[in-house]
Amino acid sequence: MQGQLDMEGALTARDRVGIQDFVLLDETTEAAFLSNLKKRFSKDLIYTYIGTLLVSVNPYKELDIYNKKQMDIYMGVNFFELPPHIYALADNAYHTMLTEFNNHFILISGESGAGKTEASKKILQYYAVSCPSTTLLNTVRDKMLMSNPVLEAFGNAKTLKNDNSSRFGKYMDIQFDSQGDAVGGHILNYLLEKSRVVHQNHGERNFHIFYQLVEGGSDDLLHQLGLERGCQHYNYLTQGQCPIVPSINDKNDWKTVKNALQIISFDETVIASVLHLGNVRFDSDSKGHALLNNNTELHWLLGVDAHRLQEGLTFRKIEAKKDQVLSPFTTDHAIYARDALAKAIYGQTFTWLVNRINESMENETVIGLLDIYGFEVFYVNSFEQFCINYCNEKLQQLFIELTLKSEQEEYEAEGIEWEPVQFFNNKIICDLIEEKHTGIISLLDEECLRPGDATDLTFLERLEEKMGNHPHFVTHKLADKMTRKTLERGDFRLLHYAGEVTYCVVGFLDKNNDLLYRNIKDLMCQSKNDIVKECFSSMDPDSRRRPETVVTQFKSSLQKLTEILVAKEAWYIRCLKSNESKQSGQFDEALIRHQVKYLGLMEHLRVRRAGFAYRRKYDVFLKRYKPLCPATWPHWRGVAADGVEVLVQHLGYLPDEYKMGRTKIFIRHPRTLFATEDAYEK
Ligand code: ATP
Ligand code: MG
Repeated sequence: MQGQLDMEGALTARDRVGIQDFVLLDETTEAAFLSNLKKRFSKDLIYTYIGTLLVSVNPYKELDIYNKKQMDIYMGVNFFELPPHIYALADNAYHTMLTEFNNHFILISGESGAGKTEASKKILQYYAVSCPSTTLLNTVRDKMLMSNPVLEAFGNAKTLKNDNSSRFGKYMDIQFDSQGDAVGGHILNYLLEKSRVVHQNHGERNFHIFYQLVEGGSDDLLHQLGLERGCQHYNYLTQGQCPIVPSINDKNDWKTVKNALQIISFDETVIASVLHLGNVRFDSDSKGHALLNNNTELHWLLGVDAHRLQEGLTFRKIEAKKDQVLSPFTTDHAIYARDALAKAIYGQTFTWLVNRINESMENETVIGLLDIYGFEVFYVNSFEQFCINYCNEKLQQLFIELTLKSEQEEYEAEGIEWEPVQFFNNKIICDLIEEKHTGIISLLDEECLRPGDATDLTFLERLEEKMGNHPHFVTHKLADKMTRKTLERGDFRLLHYAGEVTYCVVGFLDKNNDLLYRNIKDLMCQSKNDIVKECFSSMDPDSRRRPETVVTQFKSSLQKLTEILVAKEAWYIRCLKSNESKQSGQFDEALIRHQVKYLGLMEHLRVRRAGFAYRRKYDVFLKRYKPLCPATWPHWRGVAADGVEVLVQHLGYLPDEYKMGRTKIFIRHPRTLFATEDAYEK
C-alpha cells in the first residue's frame, strides 16, 4: 500500500514537473524530449540533464535560484540527488578535480542569445563564493569577479540577436591549489570584432563602454577628455540608430565599470581618443587630396605630435630605394586610415586589459570555462560572422569527437557489445573552411597576399573554381534555378551544422588584412600616453615582416584552444534560446526543435541511454574498493579483472548494471557507483 502511494506520488511529480534527466524518459523520440522540456520550462525549471550534460533554456527573466542559500544546498552533494542546477555541475567538476587531481573544462555552447555568458557568470560566482579561501586570497577572488564587468563593457555590444552579445571569445582558467582554494585565474581572449568600433549595422550598437562613458562619466571627467555628454555627438556611436536600449542602463553600469577600471589603473583617455577620431573629418583640396579638418583634442589625447598625426592620417609613407616619399591620400583613403587607427587602438587596448587582469600563479589544478560568441545569422553576414560561425563549427566538432565518436570507439576497443548510434559529423564543413591549400581560409589568404588586382570578387571566383560541387557550398553562379533566386552575385552560402548562412564577400580581403599604415604605427609607439605606447610597441616587433592575416591567427588560436581542452576532462552545458523576441515565458517550439537537432542532443541522449555513465580501469577500481569485500581484502592475488568481478558480485551489482571490457569495468548508472562510494566512505 505504502509502495503504491509512493508510486503515485512519483507519477504525479513526473507529470507535474517532467523528468529531470532525459535518460530516464520512457521513449527517446524528439516529441517526448520537447514535451518534457516544455513542461519543465512552464514551471520555470530551466535545467534538465542528459546524464552529466546540462541542458539550459533561456528564461529571459530573473529566477530566484542563484543565491547563497542555493549554493549551500548544492555544495558537496552528488549530481543526481537534487534537482538539476548549474551549481550541481560546477560543484561536481570541482569535487572530481579535488579527488582525482586532474584538470577540467566546462564547455558552454548555444547560439547567440541562448545564455552562455550568463551561465559562465553563475559558475564563476559559485566558485568565488563557495570554495574555501583565506582572507589573503580574497584579492584574487575580487579580481576574478571584477574581470567580468570590465571585459563585458569592452567586449560586448547590443546586436539584433542579443542586447548583451559577446563580441569576443573568452577562455578562463580558474586555478586551485591542492586544498581546493581558488588561487588565481587566467584569461585567453579570442578575436574581438574590431570592425564594430567604426561601423554598426542598423539596430546595433558599438561596444558598451563608449555609451557608459559619455552617459555616466562625471562632468569633470568628460571635460578633461574633451568629450560632450550624450552619444548623439559621436559618429562612431550613432550609425546603428539605437543608442538607447531599454534593457541597458549605461549610467549605472558605468559606476561598476569605473570602480573596476580604477583597480587596474586604466585611464579613459584611450577610449575618448577613439571617439574623437570618429569625428575627424577630411576635406579635399583642388587636386582631390585629403586635408584634415582641425581637431585640436586628438593629438594630446594620444600623446603624439600634432603635425605628425595630421601627416599620418593624410599621407602614406612609401619607401622608394633609399628615399622615403610621402604620397597623399584621397579623402576615402584618409577615412580608411583613420578607421584603421581607431580599430587598432581599441583592439590593442582590449588585449592590454586582458593582460592586466590576468593573474598567473603557481597552481595545482584548473577548471577552464569557455564562453564564446554563439552561432549567428543576420540578414547580411560578413567576415565577422564567418569567423564566429567557423569557431562554433570547431567547438561542435570537438563536442562530437569527445562524446559521440570517442565514446563509441571506446566501446568498440573494449569489446563491449554495442548498437552504433548514427550522427551527423560536421568534419566535412570544418574541412571545407580550414583545409590546408584548398579550404576557404587558404584561398582567402592567397588572395590577400597576391599582389596586383585581387579583390573580394576575385576571391569569390577562386572559391567557385575550387569548391565547385561541394555539398555544403553554393554561390549564385553554381546554384540551381530555385536557389539562385535567393542569392546575390557577391554572395556565397555555407551549409553550417546549425543552418544555412549567406555571406556577402564585400570587405573580406580588407578585414582579413587589417592593415595599419606603418607611419601611423611608428608614431603611436612614440606616444607619451603609456597605454597607447605599450599597446602599439607590443603589436609586432618586426614591422617589416608581413603580419599573419586575421583569419589565420584565429585559426591557430582555435587550434591551440582545442589542445588546451582535450587535455582536460569535459563537462557540457548546452544553452537553448527559448524565443527570438527576448520574451519571458515563451517557448517557441519550432525554434527549440531546431536547436535540439543541430546541437545533437537526441544523438547524445541515445548514446547515453545505451551506454555507461562510468568506467574505471580494473586496477584503479580494485585498489579503491577492495576493502568492501573479504575475498579481495587486503590483497587480491589474481588478475585485477577477476578481482573486480568477485568484488561486484559481492556488492550485489545486477548483471544489467555493468559490463566487463578488456581493460575497464563499465557501470551503467551513476547511482550504482554512488552506492559503492557511500559504502566505502562508511
Ligand atoms: P552571445 O553568443 O550573443 O554572446 P549568449 O549565449 O552569451 O549570447 P547571454 O548574453 O548569456 O547570451 O544571454 C542573453 C540574455 O538572456 C541575457 O542578457 C539575459 O537577459 C537572458 N538570460 C540568459 N540566461 C539567463 C538566466 N539563466 N536567467 C535569466 N536570464 C537569462
Ligand atoms: Mg555571450
